[in-house]
Amino acid sequence: MVLSELRQQPHLSASSIGEYVECSLLFKFGRIDRLPMEFKSDALEFGTCIHRVLEQFYSARMIGEKILLKYVHEIFESTWTAIAADRDDIRYSNDNDFKSLLMYGKDLLTAWYNKLPDDQFTILAIEEAFSFTLPGVPIPIIGAMDLIEEDSTGTIIITDFKTSGRAYSKDEVDQNQQLTMYQIAAKRNGYDDREILLRFDTLVKTKTPKFEQYWTTRSELDERRLIKIAAQVWDGISKGVFVANDTSWKCKGCAYKQACDEYLEGEEYDQASNQ
Ligand code: SF4
Repeated sequence: MVLSELRQQPHLSASSIGEYVECSLLFKFGRIDRLPMEFKSDALEFGTCIHRVLEQFYSARMIGEKILLKYVHEIFESTWTAIAADRDDIRYSNDNDFKSLLMYGKDLLTAWYNKLPDDQFTILAIEEAFSFTLPGVPIPIIGAMDLIEEDSTGTIIITDFKTSGRAYSKDEVDQNQQLTMYQIAAKRNGYDDREILLRFDTLVKTKTPKFEQYWTTRSELDERRLIKIAAQVWDGISKGVFVANDTSWKCKGCAYKQACDEYLEGEEYDQASNQ
């Protein structure tokens, strides 16, 4: 089953669990009330676009072809045009606009392409969707792993593609819950007898674009911690506990800021945290 089909059923994911922990009111607005987003951020749309380009690159590589950089640029241009041209609901940050990101995206992909190691890993899957259950969570955990590879010793390498405004710290990579969830998913989907390495392939949107690969691993204790957190999140959701974390780093770019302000500043107690 593909991810869009899995999303039709009630579910949790690594990102929704992280969102609940960071601001459960944001979780409620988007995932329970399904309020329309007040805007779409340029970073979100641009990241989606880069992701699609990398997906096409690896789909070709899976059948032994390496797409030349100029075609990577062409794929990006057509994808970015399809995603963002003539949209008035995208909120551009800084001095960005459709055209500046069109140019910047090509530079970013050039940095990625030129630094991408010429490894000989075997590609096992691209956009591999998964669904499994955890103790204490009665609905499935779903997601999709961007890239699954295998090295010559049989070790599995799971990669998530990222675009980021800055480089990551070691702690951020080593503690990232999305990668932990991918390891749990891989073990539940036939790789439990393998060594597993986890990786972020990160296209860094600094003034001079950069590409960084970050490698990490997870222990069984890391898995256990996340499983416990997922159960706590479910407990909170099922009891209708939704708390605004209005000092969160997410507030600045929150697509539900207006709804949040109206709720927090409204005079009546409207049961938003008691449904
Ligand atoms: S503005 Fe901040 S507190 Fe309000 S929903 Fe968004 S992230 Fe949560």
